[in-house]
Amino acid sequence: MSQGTGEPGLSIWARQIAPSPTLAVDAKAKALKAAGKDVCVFGAGEPDFDTPDFMKEACAKALRDGQTKYIATAGLPALRAAIAADYQARGFGEIKDTQVVVSPGGKFSCYLAILAVVSPGDEVVVPAPYWVSYPEMVKLAGGTPRIVFAGDETGFRLKPEKLRAAITPKTKLVILNSPSNPTGAVYPRVELEALVKVCVEKGVYILSDEIYEQLTYDGVKASSPATFSPEAARLTLTASGFSKTYAMTGWRLGTLVAPQKIASAVADLQSQTTSNATSFAQFGALAAYQQPDKARAAVAAMLQVFDRRRLLLWKGLNALPGVRCFRSEGAFYLFPNISALGLGSDEFASRLLDEELVALVQGSGFGADDYVRLSYATSDEVIQKGLERLGRFCARLAEKRKPAPVRA
Ligand SMILES: *Cc1c(COP(=O)(O)O)cnc(C)c1O
Repeated sequence: MSQGTGEPGLSIWARQIAPSPTLAVDAKAKALKAAGKDVCVFGAGEPDFDTPDFMKEACAKALRDGQTKYIATAGLPALRAAIAADYQARGFGEIKDTQVVVSPGGKFSCYLAILAVVSPGDEVVVPAPYWVSYPEMVKLAGGTPRIVFAGDETGFRLKPEKLRAAITPKTKLVILNSPSNPTGAVYPRVELEALVKVCVEKGVYILSDEIYEQLTYDGVKASSPATFSPEAARLTLTASGFSKTYAMTGWRLGTLVAPQKIASAVADLQSQTTSNATSFAQFGALAAYQQPDKARAAVAAMLQVFDRRRLLLWKGLNALPGVRCFRSEGAFYLFPNISALGLGSDEFASRLLDEELVALVQGSGFGADDYVRLSYATSDEVIQKGLERLGRFCARLAEKRKPAPVRA
């Protein structure tokens, strides 16, 4: 670089990072709404419910009691102990409190987990459709994301042969996310076990993002790689948090449970970057463990509503011309295939917003341009109205795609 000419410029980290497309769509829809437009928003990546009262109350009490100072970097001791006990009860084997790190959000838990194990030159296998942040986080750690795709024909679930083929001597980590954002797919236990077996054989770490673990439907249960075997537990970093389960996205509270060496490294990384997650917020989260009946009831009530909306939207989407929609079993998203309509997902999403005032997220941001993501964390009324508008839009596109009538 020449000296004294112009400004030094941005780092490679800043230059290579893509802004979150989910948040961008949300911003555009909000701007239209603020301008008085009647927008049907399916973009939200958060529950539309409020945080359960008993958790808010516990947080407010902590504030009143003066819990407003720095606390232990890795989290409130009582909360770490409660999380450790919960994971232990869920079959994670013996989990010490020191293996738990409470962070400012599940997103940050994922990022620190990646920073703790990925060095420049390392490869990380990221199954697509992926959560938008994984590839960017890997790049921020200097690693190279290796994307492997599994479409709706296989229920958005990766086959072990494909995973095996994607792992090279440089692979350090595989990222799994079941239930998945954006697809809502949930791996049956046997299928997840097959993937984990490949990781154990190859000796690569697994980051299991289980933020939607409690949000499943149709009697399906999510399973956790770290519970499969002691070998799997030694290689698995489990990220989760409170945002989705308890409608607490604004609180910023995530968790990471990992083998001791990794948990300690993550706590050190956190100590030099953010310090502890908000002290009084952690008291609110602790209430979920201290009053488990209330916590269960709150989640069950939310799930019941989500489930009704899921089926309403899923049936509606499948009835649209040119649209094929996989029946999700978890989270609060549907991820229909729109490839038969002849538009890429960016054009589909932006024209839909302009022409019909419906906001959804283009699949391109998730590494899946044949799809779009709709969140059903919205009212039945918006779902119904949105489906009507989508119906008009898709009918126009499908009409255009029809071959010209053949003259006799
Ligand atoms: C929402 C989400 C997270 C984390 O959310 P936080 O608000 O940071 O806790 C992590 N992973 C996935 C896949 C998500 O959708």
